[in-house]
Amino acid sequence: ENNSQDEEYFKSYADISIHEEMLSDAVRTNAYRYAILKNYEMIRGKIVADIGAGTGILSVFCVQAGAKKVFAIEASSMAEQTESIVEENKLSNRITVINKKAEDVAYPEKLDAIVSEWMGYCLLYESMLQSVIDTRDKWLKKEGLMFPATATLYIAAYNDEEYDARLDIWNEFKSMYKVSMESMKKCSKKCISRNVKVRSVPPMSIMSHGQTVCSIDLKTVTVQDLHNIKKQFKLECFGRSTIHGFITWFTVTFPGDITLSTSPYSEDTHWGQTIFYLEEPFDVDQGTLITGEFSLCPNNFKSRFLDININYRVNNGPETKKYYYMNDCIT
Ligand code: SAH
Repeated sequence: ENNSQDEEYFKSYADISIHEEMLSDAVRTNAYRYAILKNYEMIRGKIVADIGAGTGILSVFCVQAGAKKVFAIEASSMAEQTESIVEENKLSNRITVINKKAEDVAYPEKLDAIVSEWMGYCLLYESMLQSVIDTRDKWLKKEGLMFPATATLYIAAYNDEEYDARLDIWNEFKSMYKVSMESMKKCSKKCISRNVKVRSVPPMSIMSHGQTVCSIDLKTVTVQDLHNIKKQFKLECFGRSTIHGFITWFTVTFPGDITLSTSPYSEDTHWGQTIFYLEEPFDVDQGTLITGEFSLCPNNFKSRFLDININYRVNNGPETKKYYYMNDCIT
């Protein structure tokens, strides 16, 4: 079962469109490029593994920074293209492409650094980080470097300007067809809250400060830690508004103070932000307190999908519990 899930996963990366999307995301790709080149003194003359190389772009950046040898590990059949790109750039002597799962690779020597772009929607969707941790534990030198070095997930309260219009459509049908469909509004709310949504939202829809719900140190995080993400949060609302859900975004940092941010206050990336709609939106005032607990872990049966629970109370009122199965990201 696990193998067939992996097969499906790697098939999605064998297609070109996902690589087009990632390289078109210049915020993402330039953050890695800048981080690798700016830290050239840490990379020059070093042995590096690029976990999940895709087109091999990060491997090439590492050679540009002076890496002695880069192992470009790619499990999908995109590895053929990785090889062509390496040849095209006349870097076959510096980059070795290995078409295997990271977990199955045996390196000729220990690694000085691991570079990887493993982040998914809501940071951990796809659960690719586990493969990076596996390589780190088996092959990275004790004083070795991780690119990125840290990752942080934030949560905030969210207002959706277009929400009411979506419910109002059932009033429009009434005037169009002379049939009342008021009860569909309740159904609509339920359906909207069923799926986790990925979207780039404008800053004005963020109704509280972001609070950290997970922070990862890539040098020390364990696979076990990723199964126990659970954090209390306390959000103080910015003003009079309606809260339709919670929203998450993440940042990762590299040595030398370089940050890649998917915050709604930063330039858009292909990750957008992740929205968790409530079944019942509620009104808030300036200072209204939303307290709660956020927990996240890989689904037991489909480990690349996530189980997310958000339990919350408004101004210390009764607790609402909501479970989300993040299995398909509707953008
Ligand atoms: N580094 C590239 C691609 C990042 S996308 C870039 O920055 O553009 C992640 C890639 O990792 C995908 O191509 C996927 O097939 C690969 N991948 C994911 N898990 C892997 C694993 N365990 N072993 C090898 N490759 C993996």
